[in-house]
Amino acid sequence: MTSIAENLEKAATRIRSAAEEAGRDAQGVRLLAVSKTKPASMLREAAGAGQTAFGENYIQEALEKIEALSDLPDLEWHLIGPLQSNKTRLVAEHFHWVHSIDRAKVARRLSEQRPEGMTPLNLCIQVNIDDEPSKSGVRPEEVPGLAQALSGLEGCRLRGLMAIPDPANPPPVQRERFRELAGLLAEVRRGVDNEDLDTLSMGMSDDLEAAIAEGATILRLGTALFGPRDYEAQ
Ligand SMILES: *Cc1c(COP(=O)(O)O)cnc(C)c1O
Repeated sequence: MTSIAENLEKAATRIRSAAEEAGRDAQGVRLLAVSKTKPASMLREAAGAGQTAFGENYIQEALEKIEALSDLPDLEWHLIGPLQSNKTRLVAEHFHWVHSIDRAKVARRLSEQRPEGMTPLNLCIQVNIDDEPSKSGVRPEEVPGLAQALSGLEGCRLRGLMAIPDPANPPPVQRERFRELAGLLAEVRRGVDNEDLDTLSMGMSDDLEAAIAEGATILRLGTALFGPRDYEAQ
């Protein structure tokens, strides 16, 4: 077995035991392989071991890999890095998910630019859950209003919320942040009557257990699958 296949197995085992611990069905937790900075050959290896969903931070880098792996039929591409409104067209044409929505304008453009015949683009609102001035994402109190603004878009489906809590938080605070995000999703679901709202994109290599305990449905794992990165994304 290759090391990426082994890492995928280890991650699956961690997910299963965390789900069991939390009294949840592990089927309700999807693994997104975060492949920023990693070459297409490593993604191909992961795909060979059964991984289908990949998360990328940079649009240009992602497009190169999407092209390089276009012979693999069932891959699903998730944008998890910041998206400026002048870059929306390529994202609308090539991705399946965007986890980093923080403005209605960007979502409206994605919706208008989503090609006919493609399934709607899945969106998550990124929440600055620690309310740190320098971080991307909307403030928690802005989430219900933005969700309302996104709920009628033709080319997109609002699926839920995403957050990247400050990794410097001690574990109990980290878990508290995940719980707050889950609470926000529940609040949004009460406000907009939308059964598509089923997604909590939270939890990374170091904190996936806490995220699963608080209801994560998509984990974003980079280092645990592909090893450390030579340079950082953000
Ligand atoms: C890089 C990145 C991850 C993966 O982080 P790891 O600690 O390597 O698992 C997850 N989410 C986002 C938004 C990222 O930029």
